[in-house]
This record gives sequence, C-alpha cells and structure tokens, in this order.
Amino acid sequence: MGTSGTIWLKSAAEIDKMRASGKLLRAVFNELEKHISPGVTTGELDRIAHKLIVDAGAKPAFLGYHGFPATLCTSVNEEIVHGFPGKRHLAEGDVVSIDCGLFLEDWCSDSAKTYPIGKVSDEVAQLLKVTQESLYAGIAVLKPDVRLGTLSAAIQAAIDPHGYGIVREYTGHGIGREMHEAPQVLNYGKTDTGMRLKAGTVIAIEPMVNIGTGKTKTLADGWTVISADKSVSAHFEHTVAITEDGPVILTA
Ligand code: MG
Ligand code: MG
Repeated sequence: MGTSGTIWLKSAAEIDKMRASGKLLRAVFNELEKHISPGVTTGELDRIAHKLIVDAGAKPAFLGYHGFPATLCTSVNEEIVHGFPGKRHLAEGDVVSIDCGLFLEDWCSDSAKTYPIGKVSDEVAQLLKVTQESLYAGIAVLKPDVRLGTLSAAIQAAIDPHGYGIVREYTGHGIGREMHEAPQVLNYGKTDTGMRLKAGTVIAIEPMVNIGTGKTKTLADGWTVISADKSVSAHFEHTVAITEDGPVILTA
C-alpha cells in the first residue's frame, strides 16, 4: 500500500487503538527528551528508543523499512530527514530532528520533533518555532469534509511570510495498519482544492522547512536527505485523526 489510492477510514474503536500506539510513542519521546543534550550520541538515543518500544511489546516501524537500519531517524542541522543514528555527538548549537514510528497491536503511529541542543542562534530558534506552528496551523483546519488543499495551504501560509523554503519532495501521509497510506499530504497547496477528508481519516502531517531554499539532496548513503544549500532544516510531525468532534492529535 502506498500514499495513492483509497483512503481507509478508521472506526472509533480503531482510532482508540491508534491512540494507544500514539501514547506509547509520546512516552518514547518523553524519555528521549531527558537524554537530548550536548555530548549525547544519536546512536545512544536510538538504543534508548529501541529498548522502550520492544519492552512495551511494540515494534519499531522504521527498522528494516526498505532496509532502514535504525529505530529513529536522527537528522542534524542541514539534514532534513532519514539521517542514521550513530557515533555523532550532538553539540551545543546543533539541532536534531528525531523521527520515530512504531506499531502497537498492528497500529502505526509516527511523530517527529526538532530539538535545539543547548543554546541555538535566534535565527534557528525562529525556524523551529515557525515549523512547529505550521504543523498546528494545519491541524487547526481539520474537520470532517475539509479539503486536502485547505490543509496544505494552512501549513504553507504559516511558513511563507518568513521566507523559508518548504521541502516539496517529501510529504505527510495517511497512516493506520501501514505506516504510509493514502492520502499524500503536501505542505503547500491551494485552499478549497483537492479531495474531501471524511471523519475517520487518520494522517501524519509533517512539514519540513529549511532556512534557505526548499531544494534537497540525498547523500551517498542513499538515505540522508539534506538541504541543497546546507541551510538548517526543521521537521515536526503528529499523527492526527479527523473525527466528528474535530481533530484529535494521537501522538500528543
Ligand atoms: Mg515520521
Ligand atoms: Mg511520517
């Protein structure tokens, strides 16, 4: 299953299962946050996340996905997404995007957050703030029958005034029994265009934003995506259900 095709709507009971998956994922982030500081290696963070997930009876969603070698994606500074955890020590002034997904009882949750390491420049702090706000701006427009373009446009509208580059080659996605389901969720678009999202739709919304242009490059490892101009990048993601009562963030 990919991000094209039919959207699989989830029942209230299924959304409850996804909520449990998202709650465990949030607990993983809460534990990681105790360790994210200058000097820690991205590999140590990966080991902590892997143990928590496996000990809870869940399964890391990224490990082995198309051959991905780790539980976390750890993307530092100009790295946008899909960085490998390893021996790199995080240093004061860096930022690291931690992206993690898991399956609990066959239901997937997916979330990402970019953390400042110690004190970062005002310019970088602003990038993190705006990117996180753009995620919440998207979530805020979700309701039954909202059009996909309206969601994408809300994300874009929160970013564009700052002159940042929105990454276009990578997108959000539907999520459920598979990590990547329909629909594809773009981080740019036009209000009142595209398909209508019914109640029961669950999506992972994940703006990726660069201080420079939105152009990307993939490193020789075949995975790590960086900004083509090497400018710092930020990435925030939540798994969100659209219900009759409005949006429910399953990974909050
Ligand atoms: Mg993710
Ligand atoms: Mg995702």
